[in-house]
Amino acid sequence: MPKVAVLGGGLQGCCVALALAERGANVVLIDRNERLLSRAAIANEGKIHIGYMYVGDPTLATARMMIEGALAFGPFFGRHLACDPQSMSHSDPAVYAVHRDSQHDTAEVSGYLRAVHALLGEAATGREHSYFGIDLRQALREWSAAEREAAFDGELVLGAFSSPETAIDPVELADRLRALIAAMPAIEVRLEETVVSVADDGGRVMVASLRADGPVREAYDQVVNALWDGRLAIDASWGVSPRRPHLHRFKYGVTYRRPAAEKPFSATFVSGPFGEVVGYRDGITYLTWYPECMRGMWRDIAPPDIPTYAEEPLRSAIIEGTFGALKDIVPGLAATEPRDWSGATVRGGIIVAWGETDIDDPTSELHSRFAIGVRSHGRYHSVDPGKLTMAPYFADACAERIVPRP
Ligand SMILES: Cc1cc2nc3c(=O)[nH]c(=O)nc-3n(C[C@H](O)[C@H](O)[C@H](O)COP(=O)(O)OP(=O)(O)OC[C@H]3O[C@@H](n4cnc5c(N)ncnc54)[C@H](O)[C@@H]3O)c2cc1C
Repeated sequence: MPKVAVLGGGLQGCCVALALAERGANVVLIDRNERLLSRAAIANEGKIHIGYMYVGDPTLATARMMIEGALAFGPFFGRHLACDPQSMSHSDPAVYAVHRDSQHDTAEVSGYLRAVHALLGEAATGREHSYFGIDLRQALREWSAAEREAAFDGELVLGAFSSPETAIDPVELADRLRALIAAMPAIEVRLEETVVSVADDGGRVMVASLRADGPVREAYDQVVNALWDGRLAIDASWGVSPRRPHLHRFKYGVTYRRPAAEKPFSATFVSGPFGEVVGYRDGITYLTWYPECMRGMWRDIAPPDIPTYAEEPLRSAIIEGTFGALKDIVPGLAATEPRDWSGATVRGGIIVAWGETDIDDPTSELHSRFAIGVRSHGRYHSVDPGKLTMAPYFADACAERIVPRP
């Protein structure tokens, strides 16, 4: 069986390691941090995208891609964690709310959501319960004006649609995966090791990395690059350049425990630089508001290495700005405001995507996310998950290239 190095211990790297170990490979999983799943993998709200968000991609290619990822997500973890995917902590399904300043009006959003929902219906035939046990056959429902005005500021939200789209709690998933991988002899985990380059080594792949005790060089039968924000730099050392302009953006989100009496509520505001409220069913609420939470954009091959957890005074500024902005749109959020915010966390991470301009540009490539996946160059494979949603789907695709099933 091959010895495979998986570079990057985020969700993509961990999923590839699990998929390879399942097929009998010997895996070495390398990450520069002190523990697995400590960066973008836990900095996100865990929305398992069905594609409803991508009204800026009228070809529906992004939605088609996300639907495949979404339907594979629960079954992958159900298999590896030996659990019912419904037992993963997930959120109240999202209401899609059309903001007054949306790049697409309510009629356009409605037509797009319905087209995606039809695609979902086709793709889910025979696997209707794959998405956390949620019934995907139920039609999307447009909210009445009275319902909309009860939940939102009616002047800011011009349309609202119930969807089945849910989000998992990425911190809970990370805790379960770390424990699983630590108990697997087929996966050797090497932490605090920074990969600096990969090179062909006469039929094997040489990985050069740096540890506190000095440089390391080790040859592998195959190598998978799942480094997310570190991926393009290591691809370049193999001689592969980005095919098009790319952006690295750093975005935060706020997580807090809401009062026990408050019900979960989830809303995604479309379409443009807005944000979301995600109410998980275990009492946690996540908020993000793009103008407050987006804190940096780089076109370099590698972005700066920014800590996941925001420190003061940035932490408090983000909480105040984000909660303040969303409370204006969702007045009911005021009832969930903690008496003090000391238990809240502000986590952020890099978002890697093709594109040249930010999402306030309706023509930006950031509105189309289908040019992602596994690219193989002989024994070297580079995986761009694009989204957390896609990690299990691409992990199985990548493992199939390395150890095909009989
Ligand atoms: C704020 C925010 C919200 C998001 N919301 C969603 C969402 O709701 N739904 C969704 O589907 N996606 C979402 N995403 C995207 C999703 O988080 C990412 O697509 C996904 O987590 C990236 O894959 P990863 O988990 O493997 O990345 P990471 O967790 O960043 O893993 C990459 C790993 O590589 C390591 N590394 C990097 N360079 C090196 C090196 N040179 N040597 C050694 N190790 C290295 C890092 O330490 C890291 O552990 C969001 C992202 C952010 C930041």
